[in-house]
Amino acid sequence: MQKIRYVYILSQRYSGSTLLSFLLGTHPRISTIGERRKFFKHSFLPDEEKIRTCSCGKPFHQCEHWNAIKKNLLARIDMADYSTNPTEFNLFENIYLNRLATETFKWALLHKLPFWPFRKKIARLCTFNRILVEEILNIDGGSVFLDSSKTIEHIPFLSLIPEIDLRVIWLTRDPRAQVNSALKYNRWSVHEAAQNWKKEMVKNAEILDRLQINHSLLGYEQLCRAPEQEMARLLKFLDLDPTGYSLNFRQQTQHIMGNYSMRLGKEVNIMERTEWRDNLSPGQIRVIESVTRDYRSHYAEG
Ligand SMILES: [Zn+2]
Repeated sequence: MQKIRYVYILSQRYSGSTLLSFLLGTHPRISTIGERRKFFKHSFLPDEEKIRTCSCGKPFHQCEHWNAIKKNLLARIDMADYSTNPTEFNLFENIYLNRLATETFKWALLHKLPFWPFRKKIARLCTFNRILVEEILNIDGGSVFLDSSKTIEHIPFLSLIPEIDLRVIWLTRDPRAQVNSALKYNRWSVHEAAQNWKKEMVKNAEILDRLQINHSLLGYEQLCRAPEQEMARLLKFLDLDPTGYSLNFRQQTQHIMGNYSMRLGKEVNIMERTEWRDNLSPGQIRVIESVTRDYRSHYAEG
């Protein structure tokens, strides 16, 4: 059986995953819709209050590309089998119950228990996602699927799909930059934000390690400073022609969801964002550096 090469971008928020998915998406063999996890929500449950727009400019439920994928998917699955959001791998709709169920499953899987709970349900969710990916590749004529869903939580599920060859690009960013971004959107102290950053790094490493996931690390700053070099390295990791992509990613129409301003923006040049240097006080920087001192290799120098 020829497995589907499946590239997963794992990253914390505000790490440049949309930029990376646009760049990789210019490769003729790579197909992507951006964050696969949002497919069901935007395609099956469009909320009139918050209609999201595809990067082609149309709302997702009116985008021909998305609708073609949905039509082919529906021809192969019975929606009566699904009472929860399958592209989020939800085991229950109730968020507390879902969290409890997911944590139990994950624990059993990570500790290599021979059985884990909700097997049948998980198998159905995996099937939905596998068929979705197959149909995206069919319509696009691609052979490698790119998923920028970012969260580590989907990796245990994806690791169970025998038809896919999962390769993870773990995109990281200077913790000072990420704490600065996190502070804008959360009511956290600098110390809490830095702790949360570190907690996520530890969790990501643990899951990748325990499940022995084939992965490659990529620093956001490195990608901005040496895009040719980093793209060539990543494409090699994916066993793809390292020259077959374009840095001028806005020339192509893509159908992607992700960071809103990044998706619909007009900026062509890749610019490293360094607002943290102006926004954070020296005291705040010291707090972050003390919490994340074991992660100095992730600091952007210069
Ligand atoms: Zn579109």
